[in-house]
Amino acid sequence: MANEATPAATVAPGVKPGRLWIGGEYVDAQDGATFTITNPATGEALTTCAQAGAADVDRAVAAAKAAFRATAWAQMSALDRQRILWNIGERMMARLDEFAAAETLCNGKPIFESKYIDVPDAAKCFQYYAGWATKIAGQTLPLSTGPFLNYTRREPLGVIGAIVAWNFPILLASWKIAPALAAGNTVVLKPAEFTPLTALLLAECAKEAGLPDGVLNVIPGRGSVAGQALVTHPDVAKIAFTGSTEVGKGIVRASVDTVKKVQMELGGKSANVIFADADVDAAVRGAAGGIFYGKGEVCAAGSRLLVERSIHDAVVEKLAERAQKTPPGDPMNPKTRLGAQVRESHLQTILGYVEKGKSEGATLVAGGSRAAIDGKGAFMQATVFSGVTNAMTIAREEIFGPVLAVIPFDSEDEAIAIANDSVYGLAAGVWTRDIKRGHRAAHRLEAGTVWINAYNRYDTATPFGGYKQSGFGRDMGPDALDGYLQTKSVWVDLSEDKA
Ligand code: NAP
Ligand code: MG
Repeated sequence: MANEATPAATVAPGVKPGRLWIGGEYVDAQDGATFTITNPATGEALTTCAQAGAADVDRAVAAAKAAFRATAWAQMSALDRQRILWNIGERMMARLDEFAAAETLCNGKPIFESKYIDVPDAAKCFQYYAGWATKIAGQTLPLSTGPFLNYTRREPLGVIGAIVAWNFPILLASWKIAPALAAGNTVVLKPAEFTPLTALLLAECAKEAGLPDGVLNVIPGRGSVAGQALVTHPDVAKIAFTGSTEVGKGIVRASVDTVKKVQMELGGKSANVIFADADVDAAVRGAAGGIFYGKGEVCAAGSRLLVERSIHDAVVEKLAERAQKTPPGDPMNPKTRLGAQVRESHLQTILGYVEKGKSEGATLVAGGSRAAIDGKGAFMQATVFSGVTNAMTIAREEIFGPVLAVIPFDSEDEAIAIANDSVYGLAAGVWTRDIKRGHRAAHRLEAGTVWINAYNRYDTATPFGGYKQSGFGRDMGPDALDGYLQTKSVWVDLSEDKA
């Protein structure tokens, strides 16, 4: 909320109030606006943060444009860019505990995930793209007209506006920033309002690593204000977005007037398919991890579990047991595997879907209720529904919580048909011991990522993104780098001068 009273002191060690990071330094919003960051595990204020308005977006874009134009970054030697990107990763790991605590306190995810997965993977992302900075090259193309020399150059786009969701704050930010910088662009990042702190720590690390001022700017603020101003800004060349399909559609519409390039990483309702010939215990572990990991607030969550009928009842029983053995706990406790949902309001949405599931005739076999730690917090039990049909709301809409919908099937064709019957196409899983069936299914599934006998695996080297309404463009891998480059064709006349 703008201008509300600042709560007393920062409650967690190492968590500083957030400000805007523009031109290599912390600044306040021009109108002095701030908002409160809440810890979802307690419902209490954690700290405050400056809130960017349209004037601040202008300042940040101007800083990024100047840094791009001043050629401090785009024209820096590729080896220097490589070294700086690598060092950003090193600086992040040197401050691992600080990053992990800030991430968990804002988001509610288990500290285990922040410390051992999200922050190290974000650091690795910078180190992966460090390697690419020195390997961006054009081509020399043989022409059928002549005599000419023609070659292509791979050039950066300019100022990138990155807008990301709250579910993997530092990872999503790094997936945009690292390839954008490796390609020679400058960046203005708008983190989600719930979770801006780790992006600010990243900006500090980037400066420590030698990134020139203005190359990376971070502007916490509301999507409808700061986000919108970034999307419509004439000096922003591309919007790289991760968030809901609904907001993504609005951004695509708003990008038209300035003919911005857009990359959309959107929602999902991913199908995880267990065939009767699978290693059932491994599949059940994968299915549980696929929905309970990250409290189910994972775009690629395996939220629809398709199970071949002959093993259906056994799988449901094992899943219910696993759900009961995965109680929510204090996210700062290293043993916790199910943290707090990001906000009370989001928990209410999840509980609304549970009611909808019951009223549409699904059978609740585990969980289904909220929980509390010391009487506080936005905690949700690990929840499993069986008897779900693909027409039910809980099988069609993204719940974004630890709620699994189990759907039986009788044949491979039926499984593929159900899996593909969704407006989304982000990810899918296949569990089988038949190598031919595994690949066959992977090829037929309409999804940007398919795991065979695994779920929720990611690596910076391999692209991640959606089919259908899960979006277009890719994060990570060589594809992401490509999305931050444009090709220039250069012609040289080689004909002899005629007197
Ligand atoms: P969201 O509501 O769409 O918000 C995403 C970002 O957009 C936030 O920074 C938000 O700011 C901003 N925003 C909101 N309205 C805007 C507008 N009119 N113009 C510009 N920016 C605007 O999504 P969320 O609730 O944070 O995240 C959950 C969604 O993200 C899920 O659907 C999930 O599947 C998706 N997701 C996709 C991927 C992927 O890689 N495909 C990865 C992670 C998450 P504020 O939050 O500050 O308002
Ligand atoms: Mg939202």
